[in-house]
Amino acid sequence: QVTDTLAKEGPSSPSYDWFQTDSLVTIVIYTKQKDINLDSVIVDHRDDSFRAETVIKDYSYLVHVALSHEIQEDFSVLVVENVGKIEIVLKKKENTSWKCLGHPQENHNSFIPKKDTGLFYRKCQLVSKEDVTHDTKLFCLMLPPSTHLEVPVGQHVYLRLPITGTEIVKPYTPVCDSLFSEFKEPVLPNNIYIYFLIKIYPAGFFTPELDQLQIGDYVSVSNPEGNFIISQLQELEDLFLLAAGTGFTPMVKVLNYALTNIPSLRKVKLMFFNKTEDDIIWRSQLEKLAFKDKRFEVEFVLSAPTSEWSGKQGYISPALLSEFLKRRSDTSKVLICLCGPTPFTEQGMRMLHDLNFSKDEIHSFTA
Ligand code: FAD
Ligand code: NAD
Repeated sequence: QVTDTLAKEGPSSPSYDWFQTDSLVTIVIYTKQKDINLDSVIVDHRDDSFRAETVIKDYSYLVHVALSHEIQEDFSVLVVENVGKIEIVLKKKENTSWKCLGHPQENHNSFIPKKDTGLFYRKCQLVSKEDVTHDTKLFCLMLPPSTHLEVPVGQHVYLRLPITGTEIVKPYTPVCDSLFSEFKEPVLPNNIYIYFLIKIYPAGFFTPELDQLQIGDYVSVSNPEGNFIISQLQELEDLFLLAAGTGFTPMVKVLNYALTNIPSLRKVKLMFFNKTEDDIIWRSQLEKLAFKDKRFEVEFVLSAPTSEWSGKQGYISPALLSEFLKRRSDTSKVLICLCGPTPFTEQGMRMLHDLNFSKDEIHSFTA
């Protein structure tokens, strides 16, 4: 239930209502917020349980009922952004009049801090798996038709598999299917595929099991998490991406989104740290993108190159960073994103502070 204390501390609580025609039932969520879009609401319909979770800042508003009548598998979700209204249109299985929407389930009509809500999972089917490098693969998962879920730019989800009788979860960051896929989110509704670039560690606990999955097998996918906020990109002029290994994954959507949706953007530079040339994810796509879009530049830095490598070498260092992070002017709006192994990210953060970049100008991706 909504508690007054919580509502006073955070944003004001949304509310919901519902109405029907002969064939449709529409659930309306009044968020009382303006910056709402299709990735703000996650809807799952399973058996007779209907669940719609709306995320508003750090809070979660839940509509959770056992529907009083059966509905068809597919439904649509619409957002009226300027008034912060979300409409979920369900199709009745039979054209009868419903007396009530359904029976309240756990936490129905609650508005609580997101950190206090457990993660909700749905089973997704493996649709395809493609080699990207010698140890990294592009996995495509399909959401069930009775789910609406769009992972916001810069956020991750948890994948869950039963391993020797125990449910194991690990975080992964969805990517686009390629660097050239037009960035339509959140404009195109009901995108049913989620892509992941995942490195398989032969001695790892989770990834060898993931790699064993056959096309058509299921893996559970959680609701999104993460503290990247898309407004960090608004009015940006220079975007610098520092990625190491699979730390490239959050950069994919950030890069695509920035190039497509931020008119003020003048330059995006990626410094991509890997052990060897064979470890570079999507190298030819990155080079093609740099050729096609003059705002984008990529530089590869290898920590264990062969003798033929004539490019930059070593780990992240103040010398590499000060040469790379040239801001256009003292006043230009800059964001530096950082992601990779923990020592990489920690050293990088320290070096950026020493180079006098402010906290607001740096975003590090962590769990
Ligand atoms: P682990 O069992 O964790 O082992 C990984 C490697 O470390 C193996 O080589 C193993 O031999 C070695 N190792 C394990 N324990 C030790 C030890 N004690 N000492 C020395 N070596 C050890 N990964 C991706 O590929 N793609 C993503 O999009 C992605 N997104 C992420 C998002 C977030 C927010 C975070 C925090 C991580 C992300 N990761 C991603 C990493 C991912 O969550 C897993 O950590 C990774 O897949 C390894 O899992 P694993 O269980 O297979 O390996
Ligand atoms: P890797 O072992 O292939 O190393 C890639 C590069 O990282 C190296 O070439 C080097 O430049 C740098 N590096 C590695 N160890 C370092 C050290 N001790 N000090 C300084 N630099 C170092 O990397 P990988 O196996 O692809 O691992 C990627 C890491 O990124 C994983 O730890 C994963 O959990 C993390 N990751 C985090 C997120 C997130 O937090 N959002 C997302 C994706 C990946």
